[in-house]
Amino acid sequence: MKTIFGPVPSRRLGRSLGIDVITPKTCSYNCVYCESGSTTALTVRRQTFVEVGQVLGDLHGYFEENPSGADVLTFSSAGEPTLYEPLGELIHSIKKLYPRLPLIVLTNGSLLSDPEVRKGLLEADRVVPSLCTASDDIFRKLHRPHPSMNIAEIIEGLCAFRREYRGRFHVEVMIVSGINDHPEELERVREILERLNPDEVELNTIVRPPAVAGVRGLSSERMEEVARIFQGLNARIIGRFQGGPANGSSLHLGERVLELVSRRPCSTSEMAASLDVPLGELEKALAQMERGGRLRRYRFEGIDFVSIRGPEEDCRADGTEARQQET
Ligand code: SF4
Repeated sequence: MKTIFGPVPSRRLGRSLGIDVITPKTCSYNCVYCESGSTTALTVRRQTFVEVGQVLGDLHGYFEENPSGADVLTFSSAGEPTLYEPLGELIHSIKKLYPRLPLIVLTNGSLLSDPEVRKGLLEADRVVPSLCTASDDIFRKLHRPHPSMNIAEIIEGLCAFRREYRGRFHVEVMIVSGINDHPEELERVREILERLNPDEVELNTIVRPPAVAGVRGLSSERMEEVARIFQGLNARIIGRFQGGPANGSSLHLGERVLELVSRRPCSTSEMAASLDVPLGELEKALAQMERGGRLRRYRFEGIDFVSIRGPEEDCRADGTEARQQET
């Protein structure tokens, strides 16, 4: 299992070296908007998917070859990182080895009611859990969670973590058209956010092909309206990729392309920016790889995307539920 990827173009963080300790696609949710496709193992059981030593070895190997190859380290995966049982031990070791590199954890926040999960995150520099709804029916429709979960417990977990954590605490609100974008629901989310008092609220919507076909994000104008509801909470709309070129990889172009799209679809423009190659050169490489059957290209909302798999495989129009691993 390869545990390091990128640096990748992150809409939230610029250039970030990804750390992935989860077997794809293992998650406590099966979100309709997930850009990594449908969850295949829906679970709340924490596991050691990969040994801590292997992750540290992969990081060491990467920085030996690319001493300034990342601005930040980000736990982000095609799955939920807090399902990794030794996450606290790994974060502690990484902070000892790379104290100057900010370490960020993107999480769906669903396991924060577990004191062990909260403790394991305390040494991270920034933790970004999600809170997209305050209502249980919308929670089920949007996230299609493991059946043992409910939104009230998740909100309690977020509140407990906020009290204990001393790092930078952001909350992401993912907004999906027709599901959680009603003003009344957003007001309810706002009330919870007022209690949580995060350092920043990251307003997000769908900009990549989602797990379920037909699920849509909001227009820029609608996102501006949503932002007004969250006024006073240091809310900002997350744009498309804003980072500079992700220099530093020694892999050749084809391998770098595959590495980028192995976890989620990527638009050709952000790919060119991330890989620091002219669009023409990238197009040639993509055409060759497409002919060889190594990737697929398609359009989503007027933008060209590249993926390992095509949308007909990622996007299940019937919203087929993921296999439930255990209860
Ligand atoms: S969006 Fe995140 S929380 Fe939702 S299914 Fe995908 S990986 Fe899991």
